[in-house]
Amino acid sequence: MNKKRKLIIAGNWKMNKTVAEGLALVSDLKIDLANVKEVDIVVCPPFTALESVSKAVLDSNLRLGAQNMSEHNFGAFTGEICAGMLKEFSVRYVILGHSERRQYQKESDALISKKALAVHGASLKPIVCVGELLAEREAGQTEKVLEKQVRGSLVGLNKDQMVETIIAYEPVWAIGTGKTATTQQAQDAHAFIRGLLGKLFGEAVAKKVRVQYGGSVKPSNARELMSQPDVDGALVGGASLEARSFADIVKNSI
Ligand code: PEP
Repeated sequence: MNKKRKLIIAGNWKMNKTVAEGLALVSDLKIDLANVKEVDIVVCPPFTALESVSKAVLDSNLRLGAQNMSEHNFGAFTGEICAGMLKEFSVRYVILGHSERRQYQKESDALISKKALAVHGASLKPIVCVGELLAEREAGQTEKVLEKQVRGSLVGLNKDQMVETIIAYEPVWAIGTGKTATTQQAQDAHAFIRGLLGKLFGEAVAKKVRVQYGGSVKPSNARELMSQPDVDGALVGGASLEARSFADIVKNSI
């Protein structure tokens, strides 16, 4: 496949994997994916496994991501983790505004944009998640919801920061449900997001931004999704918890 933007495929382990389990998973991935150069491959373990996994991936083509980060740099914020702490473990990417955090932690677009600025302030790359609920899609509100989330979650970013930002389009109804958006639904949403980025940051920036698809990505549907012109990778939940399926998603995407 000949796309100008390099694919980025990230595994979001969510609240899964002890240190020992995470190490076993990356040990298998390192072997399976050792020769892959065409894709940026990212694993996002829970905070407790970052240090160990960080050491394990040092000599590999796997990169490390975190699943969340505070918008603050330090201080009295019990239970939070800041950029400086992530940088100690060579984290490069931070997932922000995942639908589970929007739902359970009530994260707003405004908060996500502050976090995105903090991520860039530390020279890390945010993966900003957006996506509509099933009821919103059925009510014909998908583009309206995406526009609100994209605009609100990227407030204050400059063009250089936007180029280094990854957007993950994750229709909420497809996350962990086994239902995948059709390739056309995914492409339409990605094209809409890229068009909006063009209006907000200029065409040249929009052409460079990588937009991942997320929502029940599996080895069997990865190739078709990645073949869409505006789909530049995947954010993978369930299928990233097993080496075989995550490695096959990466290999099938090339
Ligand atoms: C996710 O949580 O980001 C996700 C896409 O999960 P799944 O692949 O399990 O649908």
